[in-house]
Formats: sequence, C-alpha cells, structure tokens
Amino acid sequence: MTTKPSRHIRRAGQVEAEVHVPVAIVGGGACGLTAALMLADAGVASVVLERDALPSGSTALSSGFIPAPGTRAQREHGVRDDSAERFAADIQAKAHGRAAPALVEAYAASIGPALDALQERHGLQWVLLDGFLYPGHSVHRMHSLPQKTGASLMAALQAAVEAAGIPVLTQALVDTLVLDAEDRVIGVDYSRPDGTRETLACDALLLACNGFGGSAEMVRMLLPEMAEATFGGHTGNDGSAILWGESLGARLRDLGGYQGHGSWVTPQGALMSWAVMMEGGVQINCEGRRFHDETQGYSEAAVHVLAQPGGIAWNVFDTPLLALARGFPDFCDAEAAGALRRCDSVDALADCIGCEPAVLQGTLDAMRASTPPSDGRVFARALEAPYFAVKVTGALFHTQGGLDTAPDMRVLREDGTPFANLLAAGGAAGGVSGDAVWGYLSGNGLLSAVAGGYIAARTAAALIHSTKASA
Ligand SMILES: Cc1cc2nc3c(=O)[nH]c(=O)nc-3n(C[C@H](O)[C@H](O)[C@H](O)COP(=O)(O)OP(=O)(O)OC[C@H]3O[C@@H](n4cnc5c(N)ncnc54)[C@H](O)[C@@H]3O)c2cc1C
Repeated sequence: MTTKPSRHIRRAGQVEAEVHVPVAIVGGGACGLTAALMLADAGVASVVLERDALPSGSTALSSGFIPAPGTRAQREHGVRDDSAERFAADIQAKAHGRAAPALVEAYAASIGPALDALQERHGLQWVLLDGFLYPGHSVHRMHSLPQKTGASLMAALQAAVEAAGIPVLTQALVDTLVLDAEDRVIGVDYSRPDGTRETLACDALLLACNGFGGSAEMVRMLLPEMAEATFGGHTGNDGSAILWGESLGARLRDLGGYQGHGSWVTPQGALMSWAVMMEGGVQINCEGRRFHDETQGYSEAAVHVLAQPGGIAWNVFDTPLLALARGFPDFCDAEAAGALRRCDSVDALADCIGCEPAVLQGTLDAMRASTPPSDGRVFARALEAPYFAVKVTGALFHTQGGLDTAPDMRVLREDGTPFANLLAAGGAAGGVSGDAVWGYLSGNGLLSAVAGGYIAARTAAALIHSTKASA
C-alpha cells in the first residue's frame, strides 16, 4: 500500500491539448468500462485513462458477483418475485437504514437494466447463482459470468470496449483536474511512466478510480480498525478522487464504510467463499471456540476475526460443504496452494487448530443442542467427521466512502449543489453501505460500479447532447 499521493486542481481559462474528447473517464475498472460502453451506445465518444499497463483494478481481483433484480437471467431462472423495491429494502436492512436513500433507489432501479444492456448489446452472458442465498439477500439475485471470477468480468468488458472501438489510454496516471473559473472541468493532466506529462481536454469528466484502500496512510486515518489488515484490492486505488474532492470543496460521505472479509486464506492470500459459512460451516479461533454468528455477513466478520488471538480463525466444515466450496474457483486455487487440511476426528482437528480437544468438542456439540448458542445462530445440522479446516484472517477488500453525489452521479459541493460536469461513480463515490463495516450487503461493490457507471453515462450523454443542442 502507498502513502497519500499528490493530487492537484489546476485553474485555467482553457487547456492546451492535442486531443479533445466529449467525456474523459479516469479509471478502467468495471465502472469506467461500463460507462464507456453505455456512452458509446448513446453515440457519445469517450476516452478511458488508466494508470496500469493493463486495466484490471479491484474488479479483476473480485469474485465478479453482481446482485440485480428483474434481469433477463433472473426471469429465465424462474425468479419472478424480485423487484427494485425489494432489493432496496434488503440494502437498507443490511445498512440499518443508514445507506443514502436516493442512491439506494437509483442503484436498485438501474442495475437490472445495466446488466441486461451489457448482455444484449455487448455479449456478457450472465448466469444466476442460485446455489445458496448470499447474506442479507432475501431472494436469488446474484449474477456472474459463467467462469465466476472478476478476471473474466474484466476480460469480457475489455473485449466489448475493444469491439466498440473505445480508446483506453493505459499507463496514464491522472494527477490533476483542470477547471475553469465557473467550476467546470475542462481537462485532465496525466503523467507517463517516462515522466512526460500530457493533457486531455474534455466536456465532462467521470471519476471511476475507486477508493482509498491502496493508501496505507488514508486507511490508518479513516479506518483505524483495518490499519494492520491485509488489503485484498488493487493497490493503485490510492484515494485520488477523495483528494481531488477535498481540494475542490466537494462533500464527502460515509468514509467509515467499507467491505471487509473474514475469510481471507492465509498465508496463501486467497478468498474462501462465504457460501460455506452460510450453509453450515463455522469459524473457530485457536482456543477452539466460535466467536460470532457467521450468517450476519462476511464484511463484519473481518473485524471479528482480527479480534481473535493472532488475528486468525479456522473455517471448519465437512464433506458436503467441501463439495460446495469446490464450486468456487478462488477456493480451488487456495486448495491447490495447500490451504485445505483434512482431519478425521475431533482430536485431529484440535491438533490442527492447536486447541484443547475438550473445548473443541464442546463447540461442535453446541451445534447439536436444542438451545441455540448465545450468538443466536441456529444450525440445521451438526458437522460430521471427516472435518476440513482452512486458516483465515480478516482483510480489507475495498472502501465504500467517497465523493457525495446526486442520484445522477454528479459530484456535490459541500453546500449540496452539483458540479455541472464532474461525475463520480463506483468506489470513487460514496456507496450504499452506510458508514460502517456491517452495512455492506454482498455485491454492493460491483453494484456501485456497474449501476453507477450506467447512470453516470446517461447523465454525461445528456450533458453532451444538451451542450451540442445549445451550441
Ligand atoms: C478479493 C475481492 C473480492 C471481491 N468480490 C466482489 C464481488 O464478488 N462482488 C462485488 O460486488 N464486489 C466485490 N469486490 C469489490 C469490487 O471489486 C469493487 O467494488 C469494484 O471492483 C469497484 O469497481 P471500480 O470500477 O469502482 O474500481 P476498480 O475496478 O478498482 O477500477 C479502478 C481503476 O482506476 C485506476 N486508477 C486509480 N487511480 C487512478 C488515477 N489517478 N489515474 C488513472 N487511473 C487510476 C485503477 O488502476 C483501476 O484500474 C471484491 C473485492 C475484492 C478485493
């Protein structure tokens, strides 16, 4: 993780630039590429500026799971009792009512059409994940590409962008936004790996450069409980949008919100799906005890795991759950890297964990008891030998706080008025998880990226069309 980078605002009457584009997009992850595709569909040209040689972002590191109601894929699976309203209610229930209401409504209404548009116009073939219910979702609405990885999502978006002829300028680290005296963005300055500097002129700008998880200094300051945690996201996401926002007098929102994960396989460094916990697996600390209700969610589980001795827990499960786990590519990678331990008895499991067998036996027996454990979790069945165990820790996946926006993704000033042509979406904007780790509903990250990119494109296209009409 880096320290705080230098990000600047330059004021100018006009910009000297060889290239002028209607919409400039900073960041080539799911948000930036979705927005570029939707702009192309609306007949508006854009350029994506990406700091890396090959766009990947946190999107490529993710599982690529996106929740959406009312999609074609959901209907084809026979799920007909979902709606934007039901999804919005699930988001707010997880956030205890603390998610920005207008944005929740906008995202819940837009994500279905966004996934359908990506499918119908750009060839992304969604499948519905109906093997289990993700924590906090009241209905099967999680989508992914058939490969079930973020890398395949990025590859599909990149192929679509290439097919649409949209320029993606790689190795272009944007460090300066150029605004005129009326607070209108008129360009961006960026640097190349050899130190040369270039400028791109634009009529509107979308910040799609995610949050601040890659800045150790900002994480220490804003999320102190995650200061020592592993960051599982893209280190190039160093808080650029927030730093520009601070210099511009933009309003920031929900800076304490983030996605943690309580199932980061260590020392291999991979994600183990929470599906195993939802279907009966448990987390046990090195004393042989459970320490939270795992079904509440994987995000807050990060904090619970980090609070255990050594910041470590063991995911413990049995043969039927191993079969479930093996349906997830990330788990298969972790298993191939040697993370999975098989234990044929409670004694062997205690030996693996390093705890007293009697304490562990008591923990497993409690799953059979007619009175549920004190954390309130109700088990449908107890685990049976052979047991399987994977050592995990808590990790920070991405930040959910960012620039406050109107529901059309225009960035708001501290007084609540919008900048005319500055937009932010995805992890660069404040999300829909409220201001704490427990507010994160599974999939809120890519929801913000894809729905936010879709809405931002619509807003930017309208701005460009209205400017053309009045010229
Ligand atoms: C292990 C893991 C698993 C996850 N699984 C899921 C999941 O299944 N579902 C879900 O909803 N969410 C998941 N997430 C969260 C999800 O990955 C993010 O919320 C989402 O990818 C954000 O998309 P984005 O386009 O905003 O950002 P990104 O995909 O990170 O893209 C931002 C891009 O901006 C570029 N950039 C940054 N600053 C600059 C700059 N100054 N100049 C130029 N370029 C810049 C970066 O290099 C990057 O390519 C997961 C995260 C992790 C780490």
